[in-house]
Amino acid sequence: MSQDERSTRHAARMVRKKAHIDTAIAAAQEERGLLIVLTGNGKGKSSSAFGMVARALGHGMKVGVVQFIKARSDTGEEAFLGKDAEWHVTGEGFTWDTQNRERDRAAAARGWAVAARMLADPGYRLVVLDELTYLLNDAYLDPATVLDALAHRPAGQHVVITGRAAPAVLTALADTVSVIADEKHAFRAGVKAQPGVDF
Ligand code: ATP
Ligand code: MG
Repeated sequence: MSQDERSTRHAARMVRKKAHIDTAIAAAQEERGLLIVLTGNGKGKSSSAFGMVARALGHGMKVGVVQFIKARSDTGEEAFLGKDAEWHVTGEGFTWDTQNRERDRAAAARGWAVAARMLADPGYRLVVLDELTYLLNDAYLDPATVLDALAHRPAGQHVVITGRAAPAVLTALADTVSVIADEKHAFRAGVKAQPGVDF
């Protein structure tokens, strides 16, 4: 095929592609708050959620973040985004670290109280519930209570939930679900958590 023929075919293909994409964009006209679930075993769930925090703040939106498992308050995301977003670290660390079910249950309840307040307040345009899935799976929180609060939140409010193994009841309610696969992770090659990348 000559260079000219190749260019003509490419141009025709792009016209068809543009028509297809323009039709899809024209069909998506609804505007409402979304429930987004970021799950899977690969790296990138919380950092994606914090990317949306940055976007929302850039639009002048009020943002709330609740970190359910993490106990540390020395993360780059909190230092930077916590200046503008309302940031709560309510966790006690992973259950295999705390080894204390009552303490974990109390921490979960504390975090949920903050989250429930945000989910009832239309002033919050984006709410991030980081690592919430673990508390649903380990029955630290009642899934029915959580699902009810999500389903009845203000119509314009976006919610992002992160954590591995999102339960089916949650993904069924969600508008967008991304499952991040774990193909490779530097930790398994002996690299410790790196500031700026992992926290
Ligand atoms: P990140 O906060 O980097 O987006 P994440 O939210 O997807 O990660 P978590 O399960 O919350 O993943 O784990 C947070 C920490 O564990 C980060 O330091 C991350 O790099 C690391 N991590 C995530 N996935 C893996 C994995 N598959 N193997 C080893 N470490 C991981
Ligand atoms: Mg995470």
